[in-house]
Amino acid sequence: MTSRLSCFRSFKLSFFPLLVFLFSSAGSVCVNAQQTEEQFINALLGKMTLEEKLGQLTQYTGRSAVTGPDVQQGGEEQITSGQVGSFLNIYGADTVLRLQHIAVEKSRLGIPLLFGHDVIHGFRTIFPTPLAESCAWNPSLAERDARIAAEEASAAGINWTFAPMVDIARDARWGRIVEGAGEDTWLGAVFAKARVHGFQGEDLRASDSVMACAKHFTAYGAAEAGRDYNIADISERTLRETYLPPFKAAVDAGVGSFMASFNEIAGVPSTCNKYLLTDVLRKQWHFDGLMVSDYTAILELIHHGVAATRTDAGILALEAGMDMDMVSGIYIKDLPAAIKDGRLPSEFVDKAVRRVLRVKYRLGLFDNPYRQLSAARERQNTLTDAHRAAAREAARESMVLLKNDGAVLPLSKSIAKLAVIGPLADNPSAMLGSWAAVGKPSEAMSIYAGVRNGVSKNTNVRFAKGCDVNSDDRSGFDEAVALAKDSDCIILALGEDEHMSGEAASRASLDLPGVQNELARAVLSAAAATGKPVVVVLVNGRPLTIGELVADARAPAILEAWQGGTEAGHAVADVLFGDYNPSGKLTATFPRVVGQEPLYYNHKNTGRPPNENDKYTSKFLDVHWTPLFPFGYGLSYTTFAYSGLKLDKTEIGANKDVIVTVNVTNTGNRAGAEVAQLYIQDEVASVTRPVRELRGFQKIYLKPGEVKTISFTLAPDDLAFYNLYNLNMRRVVEAGWFKVYVGTSSADTTEARFRVTASYRMGE
Ligand code: BGC
Repeated sequence: MTSRLSCFRSFKLSFFPLLVFLFSSAGSVCVNAQQTEEQFINALLGKMTLEEKLGQLTQYTGRSAVTGPDVQQGGEEQITSGQVGSFLNIYGADTVLRLQHIAVEKSRLGIPLLFGHDVIHGFRTIFPTPLAESCAWNPSLAERDARIAAEEASAAGINWTFAPMVDIARDARWGRIVEGAGEDTWLGAVFAKARVHGFQGEDLRASDSVMACAKHFTAYGAAEAGRDYNIADISERTLRETYLPPFKAAVDAGVGSFMASFNEIAGVPSTCNKYLLTDVLRKQWHFDGLMVSDYTAILELIHHGVAATRTDAGILALEAGMDMDMVSGIYIKDLPAAIKDGRLPSEFVDKAVRRVLRVKYRLGLFDNPYRQLSAARERQNTLTDAHRAAAREAARESMVLLKNDGAVLPLSKSIAKLAVIGPLADNPSAMLGSWAAVGKPSEAMSIYAGVRNGVSKNTNVRFAKGCDVNSDDRSGFDEAVALAKDSDCIILALGEDEHMSGEAASRASLDLPGVQNELARAVLSAAAATGKPVVVVLVNGRPLTIGELVADARAPAILEAWQGGTEAGHAVADVLFGDYNPSGKLTATFPRVVGQEPLYYNHKNTGRPPNENDKYTSKFLDVHWTPLFPFGYGLSYTTFAYSGLKLDKTEIGANKDVIVTVNVTNTGNRAGAEVAQLYIQDEVASVTRPVRELRGFQKIYLKPGEVKTISFTLAPDDLAFYNLYNLNMRRVVEAGWFKVYVGTSSADTTEARFRVTASYRMGE
């Protein structure tokens, strides 16, 4: 890659010929048209001292100052002396400009800084959490939202986001399930690609693009018992088939960076897992971007018990392929001695520095370190009406209608007396969810506020909290019950607050926390006594065990609203009052009880598949083996029917496709969107295969009575899997029968079969 001639110091230098000489001899950082990226990097590397190199590998966190986030004490001196390459948690156009000016103008080599931040589902305008947004099954929407987040974040000086989180999560106890696209690998890869494109835009050098970061590499979601940071002991097959593909998709989409996970796999902490960080990522996938550790994770190698000292930890990590040290400060403080006494070959340092310089180059920072930053641009790009409108659209598309007995929803907008009850009813901060960047609760719409804005002038909307999200205080019950009795319809908002999912937020129970079930019982009986309908709205960051509500006829409707972001309240009202017909489908299975976890649709059959009539089969004594709601499930205000499933061939040879067609009809009387899902099953193979695996979906919009014929192409890649270990985990398609399932959820499909006549290996 060549770049136009530029030198961001040149405006100064041209007036001071003597300084030009001094700077050139000190090695000022100019990009010129004759240099390739690698030549530029090599030339710069050649001018760097060991300390400057280790500085580039060092990332420090900011602190909260009166004027907003800023560097820690001594931070400016660290920049001037080249001891830091990046900061996280520092933003704001003025602050970033000031610090970048110091790096560019006052440090010896003038290497610009990376400013990283967790822009996970929005920056100031907050979108639904990634788990919620995946339920829209609309990658273009996810891409658009990531783009808006990038526009806002970049205007505040951020050039690197620690997103997308592409961990597959099959255990709802793990709080970080909220940060990804759910349990399915294939869908996870689709969203990984969309979000990388959204953050990085068409051109990483554009001032409104931010470098994305695929995290957490890897199998972080496989934590034992769903307890955060816990170990994963999984096979190479599970790693390759379940956990790695979304990361590979991120590489294919051009992601600029990776973050390693806090966990260990089979005894090897990811922070120093040479196999994953170097052999898989660099050698097999040819990724040449940047690898950053997680927060203090290099230091944590001591707790893991694989390093005795800080120096040992640093050596292990750097040699494994960990380029940047987030916060531990080990690389800059402890590695110089290890290099001097020969314990760490300096080539490892150079390799890592190259990658840091490379991403800075690709972001265009050497040409344009200030990226058109200004306080005015920051103001203009933040929480605009258009961004809010996009957030509202995303939130309503993410919601999943779980139950709607007797078509109680949508509600009329002119109900005389409407009650909005529950600890999540007027709770704007809970709407934002975890990792809400700089989103402000004061700018978020609660359900109560959204409902008030959504109804006619004649509706009297009243609120009672009933109880806290998570306490045993029942003192608000009476007020809630009295309000329920005196209302024509009750919206009951229950769930989790923003701290109950996300990092370090694992739960051993998936029930509604605190006394919310008791509140629900009290409100439901009060409403049943007067015959008034209760609509439950759930606000939460993970699947919950809500079997009691589902089974209770007094709660005819349940809407899974997730944590919808800044515009959640409006979006809930749009759905409840029928301005939007819900179309979301679950991307994570809802268990009946927590003891079923990990529970996911693409499990293996076992030698004794569950059977009602046979005790000695794979099931539980005390609960049915099936989920409460399966992957892919979600209702609409209309209904859809599938018919005429056809395959263009029932036999194919090597490297051939099968085309699957099906008719989908809107059989109800409202327009609506359906997510038609395609699954396959390899019936007999040399290793066991999942009972079904998602391989395609289409979101289609149908008017009442309308029929659409849709088609999917199943390609060899969709049929392939890693076969036996002694064949070196090669991807193959094996001859034999495959089932094809198409339908409205993973558990409600019609099926057909085809046969592959010859086995073959996939190319690399
Ligand atoms: C989290 C990462 C995050 C990092 C920086 C860590 O605790 O695991 O996901 O990017 O902090 O905030």
